[in-house]
Amino acid sequence: NPELQTFKQTLKMRRNYVGKSCKLHYEVSPLKIVRASRQYMYDDSGNEYLDCINNVSHVGHCHPHVVTAGQEQMTKLNTCYGFLSDCQVAYAKRIVELLPEQLCVCYFLNSGSEANDLAIRLARAYTKQNDVIVIDNAYHGNTENLISISPKKLKEHNLPIENWVHVVPTPDVYRGKYREDNINPGQLYANEVKLAIAKAMANGRKIAAFISEPNQTQAGMIFPPKNFLPLVYRYVREAGGLCIADEIQTGLGRCGEHYWAFQSHDVVPDIVTLGKSLGNGHPISILVTTKEISDSLNEFSSSYGGNPVACAMGMAVLDVIQNEHMLSSAKSVGKCLMDELRRILPNHRLMGDVRGMGMMVGVEIVQDKESRKPNKDAAEALVYKMKERKFMMANEGPDKNVIIFQPPMCFTCENALTVAKALDQALAEVEEDDLRVNSGSNLNIQVPLSVLTNAKHKLDSDDDEDDFESPGKRQKISYEEVD
Ligand code: PMP
Repeated sequence: NPELQTFKQTLKMRRNYVGKSCKLHYEVSPLKIVRASRQYMYDDSGNEYLDCINNVSHVGHCHPHVVTAGQEQMTKLNTCYGFLSDCQVAYAKRIVELLPEQLCVCYFLNSGSEANDLAIRLARAYTKQNDVIVIDNAYHGNTENLISISPKKLKEHNLPIENWVHVVPTPDVYRGKYREDNINPGQLYANEVKLAIAKAMANGRKIAAFISEPNQTQAGMIFPPKNFLPLVYRYVREAGGLCIADEIQTGLGRCGEHYWAFQSHDVVPDIVTLGKSLGNGHPISILVTTKEISDSLNEFSSSYGGNPVACAMGMAVLDVIQNEHMLSSAKSVGKCLMDELRRILPNHRLMGDVRGMGMMVGVEIVQDKESRKPNKDAAEALVYKMKERKFMMANEGPDKNVIIFQPPMCFTCENALTVAKALDQALAEVEEDDLRVNSGSNLNIQVPLSVLTNAKHKLDSDDDEDDFESPGKRQKISYEEVD
């Protein structure tokens, strides 16, 4: 049983056998999670964490209805593509019934990246044009093509923007180019897209597609003004391009109100890509498009895409969403969480903004409310302080200063109140540390000392003689430091 290994052995094996570029969630003091149920995760010491970020485990970790569906189908048949399957067509029908009428053809794949890659391919095949417009700080996947249309990754890896990619500003009314005090920020941001199209065309280039998350999770939980997407979709279509909605994070009811985030923006995309939540952890992704666009590709295959086990699990996820009324729950619990976060906002000088929709909520951690400058160090310290309190959280966005909430959809109002209370206390501590740092003391705000001490203790408790340097000297546990 691999779980009989000590924490340290697992960490060492990870260093030896897994790519160094694959990052762990808590780099300073990683967690070894051994089991999970509903909105809770358990580590190798039996600690229970309230999971505030796992949007893949959409209907709750290891939901019995989904697990049973997978197990039962696995005993009957799990084969590769190319055969007629009741399960697959029934699942395709159910997905299509949740979408606007014209989005009626499915492609089954295994990851969000595969779905977005195919989306670009289809857009090029249909339009016979090549270029892609993307929103700044977006992430759309890990293939070569998708890295090129993921400004977040281009920046991280210091890569140039290719000539077929056109990056437009993030429609962020809090810290972006046009803010909430503008009369019509949606129009101003949409004008930037119009301008990008005009510039591209003046250079003889042609737009195949505009791709965006309807609400930008990756760019820091951004909720564009309501008129932004309708205007952008109009400009892109006038230029002969297609509009792709990446619903990999935002879809399947996460934003409350509707199944799909684009519905609250009053647009209908030409292509929609779905992933993450579809299989509740089992790898499934789907691209849905119109018949005409689909027909522009005369052959496509995926060995595992739409296999019977994936489809059985996908259908079980849809059952749970319906049976457990998860859309209305996301709406009311999300409101509960935001109300509570907004209630504590005036108490905290480092808490700049609270925004969200359903179970997709972001909290801006800033240097001060006036400048709105991002405060990555405080956000990171907060995430570690919350970990000590047994809340699983993350800081995201281009400046890593947005605390995100994207919990499993079974998250309750009680959970929301508990996490907001803990955040209130942890943030007060971070603010105190921050004051001391700014008043010239040597105390380092970046990662709480107790986190380093605990991490060291955990590793020391094994037989090996290996050790860390004293806490405070080092900020990150790099793989080399483990042995
Ligand atoms: N698009 C978005 C918005 C995502 O968040 C992700 C994954 N983080 C992807 C695409 C890629 O999905 P996957 O990791 O399943 O390939």
